[in-house]
Amino acid sequence: MNIRQILFSKLANIYLGTYRGYLLEIRRLVTPHIPAMVDAFYWQVQEVEELGPILNNPQVEKKLRQGLTLWLEALFQDKNDMDGIIHDIIALGSRHAEININLHYIHHGLRILKREITSHLEASDHSMEWILEAHEVVDELMEIIFSLMSDSYFENLVKHQSNLLSMRMQAIGHNMALECERMRSKLSEWARDTLNVLHAEDAHAPEMIPYLQYSEFGLWLEHKGEIYLPENSYQERLAAYVQEIDMELSQAATYRYENRSRRFRTHLRAFNERVSQASWYLAGMVDQAERVDSGRDALTNVLNRRYLETVLRRETEISNRQGFPFAVALLDLDYFKQVNDTYGHEAGDVVLRQFAELLAAGVRSSDFIFRYGGEEFLLILVNVRQDSARSICEKLRIRCEGHPFILSNDKRLKVTCSIGIALFDGHPDAGRLIKLADAALYQAKRNGRNRLEMARS
Ligand code: GH3
Ligand code: MG
Ligand code: MG
Repeated sequence: MNIRQILFSKLANIYLGTYRGYLLEIRRLVTPHIPAMVDAFYWQVQEVEELGPILNNPQVEKKLRQGLTLWLEALFQDKNDMDGIIHDIIALGSRHAEININLHYIHHGLRILKREITSHLEASDHSMEWILEAHEVVDELMEIIFSLMSDSYFENLVKHQSNLLSMRMQAIGHNMALECERMRSKLSEWARDTLNVLHAEDAHAPEMIPYLQYSEFGLWLEHKGEIYLPENSYQERLAAYVQEIDMELSQAATYRYENRSRRFRTHLRAFNERVSQASWYLAGMVDQAERVDSGRDALTNVLNRRYLETVLRRETEISNRQGFPFAVALLDLDYFKQVNDTYGHEAGDVVLRQFAELLAAGVRSSDFIFRYGGEEFLLILVNVRQDSARSICEKLRIRCEGHPFILSNDKRLKVTCSIGIALFDGHPDAGRLIKLADAALYQAKRNGRNRLEMARS
């Protein structure tokens, strides 16, 4: 059993086993006090210095109080639906990781709750023996909850950290494209040397030939391929090429050794073909890696969504630290389907590329531009207040409106865009900002397009 399964069965033991009676009685004692417990909890966690700035936000306070009330009400229910409670606990863990609330604060919060719950047990008129048993049940329950939450917390954190790591790897220029390009030249070097060996005046015995598998290229593929190639299929395909190349090589060498020149030439040709196929395959990977690995969208060269979450999280942290907001703006081209329908998909692509250039020219270099969907772009404008976010976006809208988009046949086209903006308000869940910006964008479309709307948070 893995850790989760162990915890599930412990939890089932509490809810469905011998403790069930205790749970129901605890519920009867605690339920009337839930609003007071939520108050007490909120006041106590707010005292933690690091949590203050996050919790003081009225949105957060409301959400937290509602969520905690529901959670406490559900906690001591007579459970037949174990999956429901497990799901809630796991979701809670990953949610805390998402909004960057450290694990020891979760522990602190659960301790507060435990104290609150047990104080109501002690005030009851049950026997001392019963109270002690009930204590044990609450203890055990909170411990399982904490373990489950930390498990999902770390799962989520690892996802985030690995994105951060690959971002850093790029920053130091240690990227896959470079590495593949280097290996491509190793492959050609090896092929050139091997051809010399094959054509040497004195034929070499086949076992004396330097096979690709043991060359620098082959060793790299075996040991480092997994690290540098983002998908297993790349490594597998290349490994298959290496085998095929070595097989042709072995046959060519054998026929040369046996002086059977026609067969030698046939396999030599096949060998050369395989080598160039492998080399092309690597070149294609370099090409793709340059786009994918950099987190960039191939068509427009702005960022793709891969790092959106990571960037949002970082900006949230920075903003909380410095007390200066940032804004998320969603921009969607108006009636873009008509551009495609009238001038063709390629013309649509040309417009998208020029629109991205226009955005890049219109924001500061510290801002982020993402291609969010087909004809939808997302901007993260750092260090802005509402006025400046609005004026930056308004400028972009006007520039777009006045820009002659030039198609490949020199035809000029007018295109407009609609924009929805949401300003960071201290709420730790930055994903919510995107939803708000999206709602504002929808409003801009409804209000006639080629306009901008601010989200009301
Ligand atoms: P609205 O003003 O409401 O946004 O209307 P719209 O036509 O822009 O919106 P809709 O969502 O109906 O259509 C979006 C179109 O964008 C449909 C799709 O063909 C096109 N599109 C999405 N991605 C690409 C792309 O990469 N290249 C091209 N050429 N077109 C794309
Ligand atoms: Mg559109
Ligand atoms: Mg759209």
